[in-house]
Amino acid sequence: METGKLIVLTGPSGVGKGSLVRSLLQRHPELALSISATTRAPREGEIHGQHYYFVDRPKFEDMVELGELLEWAEFAGNCYGTPRGPVLDRVREGKSVLLEIELLGARQVGQSFPEALKVFILPPSKSELERRLRGRGQESEEAIARRLQRATEEIEAAGEFDFQIVNDDFETALRELEAVLGF
Ligand code: 5GP
Repeated sequence: METGKLIVLTGPSGVGKGSLVRSLLQRHPELALSISATTRAPREGEIHGQHYYFVDRPKFEDMVELGELLEWAEFAGNCYGTPRGPVLDRVREGKSVLLEIELLGARQVGQSFPEALKVFILPPSKSELERRLRGRGQESEEAIARRLQRATEEIEAAGEFDFQIVNDDFETALRELEAVLGF
């Protein structure tokens, strides 16, 4: 694969982006994953600096004000953003960087970096997505409802992306993802 690419991976909450990314990084350690900042509270097992930088709202607003974020968006009541410095450093070093972000952020990256490769992960169906979201068992009913509402909006925009991959069978989706990334 060519080096120094910006890769954007988007798809509704619960579609399995996280698992795809984990497998991709295991199989291709030369890829770098951008670690986002968020105002969301950590889920059980999530580690600051590894899964996210967990920050409070004033700190997040400072990062926005200071131009430290490459993109940012509000999602289901919390803010999420990509720290600019580490991403640009990795790309300059010739490394490809993966951004696992939602739709509004993906659009911002597409505008700033038209050469970025944008991939959308689709669920096999809405009912399967809902089942996976509930299966996580860590979200309130209200949070699940907000994520499902947002999922509908995101899926409608899947056509804006360079590639769409359906995550029905995990291994098949992973192989398709590798293929579009040029592995
Ligand atoms: P979760 O709360 O499930 O970890 O993430 C919620 C959504 O926020 C997911 O769709 C995830 O891809 C997205 N997200 C995570 N980090 C970022 C980021 O830095 N920027 C944007 N725009 N979205 C993000």
